[in-house]
Amino acid sequence: MAKIRMTTPLVEMDGDEMTRILWQQIKDYLIIPFVDLNTEYYDLGLPYRDETDDKVTVEAAEAIKKYGVGVKCATITPNAARVEEYNLKQMWKSPNGTIRAILDGTVFRAPVTVKGVDPLVPTWTQPIVIARHAYGDIYKCTETKVEAGSKAELVITAPDGTQKVLPVHTYKADGIAMGMHNMDNSIESFARSCFNYALDTKMSIMFGAKDTISKVYDHRFKDVFNEVFEKEYKAKFEEAGISYDYYLIDDAVQRVMKSKGGFIWACKNYDGDVMSDMVASAFGSLAMMSSVLVSPDGNYEFEAAHGTVTRHYYKYLKGEETSTNPIATIFAWTGALAKRGELDGNQELVDFAKKLEKASLDTIEAGVMTGDLYLVSTLENKTKVSSKDFLLAIQERLNAQI
Ligand code: NAP
Ligand code: MG
Repeated sequence: MAKIRMTTPLVEMDGDEMTRILWQQIKDYLIIPFVDLNTEYYDLGLPYRDETDDKVTVEAAEAIKKYGVGVKCATITPNAARVEEYNLKQMWKSPNGTIRAILDGTVFRAPVTVKGVDPLVPTWTQPIVIARHAYGDIYKCTETKVEAGSKAELVITAPDGTQKVLPVHTYKADGIAMGMHNMDNSIESFARSCFNYALDTKMSIMFGAKDTISKVYDHRFKDVFNEVFEKEYKAKFEEAGISYDYYLIDDAVQRVMKSKGGFIWACKNYDGDVMSDMVASAFGSLAMMSSVLVSPDGNYEFEAAHGTVTRHYYKYLKGEETSTNPIATIFAWTGALAKRGELDGNQELVDFAKKLEKASLDTIEAGVMTGDLYLVSTLENKTKVSSKDFLLAIQERLNAQI
């Protein structure tokens, strides 16, 4: 059988530890036998990031802007212990943070559902997609401890030098204070990414914030979403038969819990951080979650939502067999290949990606799974296998389909 050709390269970003091992195995067993893989390779593994003073991360992000689609392996965000372990020149920043800052986008996270792994919320029969704003708020804040007797004020200096001084608090006791910000253009990109994704997936979308309490800050998010929707998306949504609604975040939460799923929940940065972990774990496993960063000018970066699975990697280094779940990393590849195929009008590549996803999920539903799923699956006949045997079982099904 002739391999599927690719006209445009995918930006491939390799990573660290257990996921780096899985990365190579996924390519060897599930992609290269079927696709004439065309990638521009960037090694974001920590040793090479250190060697290039992290320039490789910036180059990879620029390449995504050039080609439009990238696929990223999980990477270590170094802390003090990693600086020692890898003898680093410095404590490099999070590659995800660097890439997000360059692409300016929104992260969409959707649970991958299978028979036998039931959501903890029984009404959730379809996935709930979290759309997380990836800029600002407490992630770019300035904060401090404050001594009793102090006064905190917010000072805004205009371009002409005039100052607006707003009282925050007069402290009778010791306390804390924080200043944070966001920008209209970042909120606008967030809104556009959300609405484009809704149109792409034909799913309705809701956005929740706390505008009743935060009458300027959160209210600005609500207003920007409404303005962008009314001006640019209302007609397209009507045509697609989907809706956009804003709810107070409390109302949004109760709607989510009582829903059937099958929609997008747009969240401010912090809400999205916390709620995506809640939704992922309620759907079964961190490794059963797809994740894609969508930029407002139409660039896509696919990744796994979990980390490098360090605990398993140390076992692997000791020569022990590990049963690490590769689904999120496989879905990063299939998401990227399908998007590449879609943009290039390469239907064969799109079809291949769908077949690989189906073969992966069929394998789990046939009872062959990794340890994390074995613990929670309600299937009667189930077998726990190593990562490698799991990938080989998927390969067998894929071969049968092709
Ligand atoms: P982690 O790699 O997500 O793993 C935490 C635990 O979750 C694992 O020990 C394992 O539990 C379970 N787990 C996660 N993924 C799994 C999978 N595919 N299959 C089976 N079990 C899985 O998080 P971490 O250990 O806190 O972080 C490790 C490194 O990853 C850190 O250096 C961090 O900087 C980095 N990180 C990177 C990203 C990214 O690049 N997107 C995201 C988060 C963290 P058991 O041990 O119970 O089996
Ligand atoms: Mg989190």
